[in-house]
Amino acid sequence: MNIDIKNKIKKLRQELPNEVTLVAVSKFHPISSLQAAYDAGQIDFGESRAQELESKFPQMPKDVRWHFIGHLQTNKVKSIIPYVYLIHSVDSLKLLKVINSEASKAQLKVNVLLELHVAKEETKYGLTLDECLEILKHKEDFSNVNINGVMGMATNTDDEVEIKNEFKLIHAAYSEIKEKIFPQDESFSIISMGMSGDYQLAVDEGSTMVRIGTSIFGPREY
Ligand SMILES: *Cc1c(COP(=O)(O)O)cnc(C)c1O
Repeated sequence: MNIDIKNKIKKLRQELPNEVTLVAVSKFHPISSLQAAYDAGQIDFGESRAQELESKFPQMPKDVRWHFIGHLQTNKVKSIIPYVYLIHSVDSLKLLKVINSEASKAQLKVNVLLELHVAKEETKYGLTLDECLEILKHKEDFSNVNINGVMGMATNTDDEVEIKNEFKLIHAAYSEIKEKIFPQDESFSIISMGMSGDYQLAVDEGSTMVRIGTSIFGPREY
């Protein structure tokens, strides 16, 4: 099992272009599985629940970079910001405000991505491009966050044309935000898109960060 995880990490690393960051999505998987991935050189891990991140953090080496990728409730922000390397899932102005104020109290600067909603599913969280642009008009108010890019998810479908088009929309939104808001700012550089089922399509469409769980760790047991 653990040998399998190591081989999958190595295979993915070989397959992905060098400039694409692999986030190993370890939610619902035990520390032994994370450790196997770490032993294969993996340092970026993605979690989607605050409590799980808090409990895994002390059990893993200190150089692990913890990515928060799930919907984040405002009352959980305070508990994760000391540990988190990048929050992918900023899906409202309210959440951004809370992250900024908790980061300020903790004297931290927190890295975040704005989550875009492009998928057809009603249930997926996220902002429209216009909402992002509106929020970013006031970016000076958020001095304790670094806005490093965008994140998005495609519809869960077999229709590759649909998935590709959604990834194109995410990339286009990133480019428009970059041009209008961060033309000189190198730190706005991340396009987080692509999961086990669709990462090849995402990479083709310009993803710089893929979030892969099942293809590394196997199915999750909820
Ligand atoms: C769980 C999750 C993933 C990983 O999904 P897999 O299909 O297991 O690769 C990626 N991104 C987000 C936001 C997730 O919640």
